[in-house]
Amino acid sequence: MAVYDRALVRLLPAVPKPVVRRIADRYIAGTRLDDACALVTRLNAQGKLATIDILGEAITSPDEARAIARAYHDVFDGIERNALDANVSVKLTGLGLELDYDLCHENLEFVVRHAEVSSNFVRIDMEDSSTTDATLALYRQLRAAGLDNVGIVLQAYLRRTLPDIRDLAPLRPNVRLCKGIYVEPEEIAFEDRQAIRAGFMAALTALLDGGSYVGIATHDEFLIDDALRQVAERELAPTEYEFQMLLGVREPLGDELVHAGHRLRIYVPFGEQWYPYSLRRLQENPRIAGYVAADTVGRLTGRGNHRGR
Ligand SMILES: Cc1cc2nc3c(=O)[nH]c(=O)nc-3n(C[C@H](O)[C@H](O)[C@H](O)COP(=O)(O)OP(=O)(O)OC[C@H]3O[C@@H](n4cnc5c(N)ncnc54)[C@H](O)[C@@H]3O)c2cc1C
Repeated sequence: MAVYDRALVRLLPAVPKPVVRRIADRYIAGTRLDDACALVTRLNAQGKLATIDILGEAITSPDEARAIARAYHDVFDGIERNALDANVSVKLTGLGLELDYDLCHENLEFVVRHAEVSSNFVRIDMEDSSTTDATLALYRQLRAAGLDNVGIVLQAYLRRTLPDIRDLAPLRPNVRLCKGIYVEPEEIAFEDRQAIRAGFMAALTALLDGGSYVGIATHDEFLIDDALRQVAERELAPTEYEFQMLLGVREPLGDELVHAGHRLRIYVPFGEQWYPYSLRRLQENPRIAGYVAADTVGRLTGRGNHRGR
């Protein structure tokens, strides 16, 4: 990332929300479920799968958490009505994790049981390290209750991830493996780019050794090449793993994977609570300064920064 891009990332919270909204538009399906369903219909037509996420995290009241859980029912209905090839992703802080563990458990189980009725699947996103233990505990609790249509996310930058994989191995968990996005102290997370990549490759090896179905969630060509090598060496069928990418990120690279016969799932967030998610995505965009500048120039010259799809 260039020096001015890095500087702008630090200033992002000071960028006016309407500007953030415009330049982050590419990362979000829209505010309504219909927006997400229409977008997933287009992705499915391109041979891509999806996971639909209702934006909302760190909510502050039990009613809000229950409302998000209920809103996932509408998502499953939307998936069925539109015959979409999609599952869902949930954030536990959106289901009340920071308010009350039992409330969160109740909400999560409610979503997972509804998914079960429609033969669907729920991926529990992983948030910052203050939530890791509780997230894994809730996952174990659901599996112990016989619910197998649920998966977790492990973050390669966390030093605890390899031990976590070892501990979870008896469950043969369905895992999305990603680098990890939250800012964490050095004692618990690698900061060096190569160390994170090494952690990712080692975690992928350990998960595949344990027979896990892995969602390989990265846009990093180095890691994608390593993953392609690992699945080829094991002669895995394309149904035994999948790649995952975020909406609006490196679409041509995703197209290449699909054309080569790999499964690719796109993370499709929608909803009113777009701001924290948008900030995280913009912080990772290596050309953020260019986008902010283009937006400013676009407005000055009367040409907006339109969605690139
Ligand atoms: C499907 C999916 C689900 C995820 N779920 C979680 C989760 O539950 N918890 C969690 O902590 N993290 C999650 N992440 C985020 C992940 O941890 C990384 O922060 C993110 O994917 C960027 O890492 P990367 O592996 O793509 O590598 P990077 O080195 O960050 O990116 C590789 C290249 O991709 C491009 N790129 C990456 N991000 C952007 C962007 N926003 N805009 C434009 N270009 C970009 C750039 O060209 C960059 O050089 C998820 C990621 C994916 C793909």
